[in-house]
Amino acid sequence: MTIFEKICAREIPADIVFEDDVCFAFRDIDAKAPVHILVVPRRAIPRVAEADDAGILGHLLLAAARIAKAEGLTGYRLVINNGPDAGETVPHLHIHLLGGRQLGWPPG
Ligand code: AMP
Repeated sequence: MTIFEKICAREIPADIVFEDDVCFAFRDIDAKAPVHILVVPRRAIPRVAEADDAGILGHLLLAAARIAKAEGLTGYRLVINNGPDAGETVPHLHIHLLGGRQLGWPPG
């Protein structure tokens, strides 16, 4: 069971800001921007490379946009780290929603 499944099951506390039947979202414990929220499917897909459900992937993006709007963000960035070389530390698919400050490009 991943740490995100434990958060979803309320076994580990988290600041959950959104949830529906497909996904849930909570504030990152180590925020890299004033707003840093993780949007996570309930289904424990390890990473986007192993995803096979376009409905879930689309749902995550639409949820992220909805949460960004609710947070009052106009400019924001959505990030998926796929694999350790990209900085993935939790093997449960998640979209980082980052905003609330000027975001540099390219990312590191
Ligand atoms: P990644 O490095 O892309 O796999 O992202 C994993 C993210 O999960 C990191 O930004 C962590 O800070 C975050 N994280 C890990 N444990 C927790 C937790 N218990 N509550 C909230 N965020 C967490």
